[in-house]
Amino acid sequence: MIYFDNCATTKPDPAVLSTYTKINEEFYFNAASPHKMGLETNQLQEEARSQIRTILKLDHQSIIFTSGATESNNMALTGMARAKKAFGSTIITTKLEHPSVLETLRTLEQEGFVVKYVKFKEDGTMDMDHFAELLSNDVILVSVMHVNNVMGAILPISEIAERLKDYPKIHFHVDCVQSFGKMPLVIEGVDSFSLSGHKFGGLKGQGILVISQLRNITQTIFGGGQEYGYRSGTSNVAVNVTMSKAMRLASENMDMQRARLYQFKQDIENFVKQFPGIRLNSHPNGAPHIVNFSFVGIKGEVIVNAFSERGIMISTTSACSSKRAKLNETLTALHVPEDAITGSVRVSFSKDNTVEEIAGFKAAFKEIYSQVEELLKK
Ligand code: PLP
Repeated sequence: MIYFDNCATTKPDPAVLSTYTKINEEFYFNAASPHKMGLETNQLQEEARSQIRTILKLDHQSIIFTSGATESNNMALTGMARAKKAFGSTIITTKLEHPSVLETLRTLEQEGFVVKYVKFKEDGTMDMDHFAELLSNDVILVSVMHVNNVMGAILPISEIAERLKDYPKIHFHVDCVQSFGKMPLVIEGVDSFSLSGHKFGGLKGQGILVISQLRNITQTIFGGGQEYGYRSGTSNVAVNVTMSKAMRLASENMDMQRARLYQFKQDIENFVKQFPGIRLNSHPNGAPHIVNFSFVGIKGEVIVNAFSERGIMISTTSACSSKRAKLNETLTALHVPEDAITGSVRVSFSKDNTVEEIAGFKAAFKEIYSQVEELLKK
């Protein structure tokens, strides 16, 4: 089996799995218990938090352990919008965001917030003039992802942070799920960001929210007061500790890994674009691990199945959103023509992939192409 759907999830690192088992066997205690074993368990978790702080080179920010980026995004956006309601009601985002952002903002609209979407230019870059037009004294929140999970587009986080310097009241949240471990994070001028462990060799149900003004956000989960009172519920220490482990492993040799992933990406992009009727959607300067292309005129699902039958797992869209509409929104916002949208597929790599697998993909592609060639719009 060749696994090229690493944007959906990655294989857990064996070291993460063994640490997870060890902690569950030896430190299954409640981190809030007052006895010796509870205190030791808590200490383990706090050490992990402090390692994450070091890995991310954080300064004053707080780290909240969550069940993943969906929860982190929900918590940051709902908590911050509600806390800032007195100062304004406008939120700026993009159509490229993950449903955990877009659906949260849709819910906030029902509470009276107004959501505005920044446009993208024909070349797929964010329209910073339009962004400047949307800024006003009524804006309280800007939420933009670092790397888009469908196309691999990289959004201009530093440039946005720079523009926001003139608006100190605005909270800037960044979804860094698809960038961590693949490229350096941009956190200067960012007020909060989300990470998800299972996207870089960690576990499902494992995430963090890093936030600079924790005390200013409205609580959304109530209970026993864990995670500084912002995320109540008995701490999942084995999950939290292995988050730090997965982050460390993903950060090690990141530059080398990134170069390797770029090579895979360039290789596949240069290969597929030679074939008439194939449209390359991802940008050569996009994220190193994501390739998106279309079999123009053929449904993406048909192509995914054809690869799947040959033991190669790729995707039509983000697995979190089986709704075709979300994919359409992202691709439409990035000006992909309609007949290419339906035929689009995503190939995404991790550090576990090999050159031999790329060769296997190319051989399967040729076979599939020759079978469907007659149906392609060239
Ligand atoms: N944000 C992005 C960009 C994603 O790709 C995903 C998962 O696909 C998420 C958020 C949600 O992450 P989780 O699975 O940890 O809830």
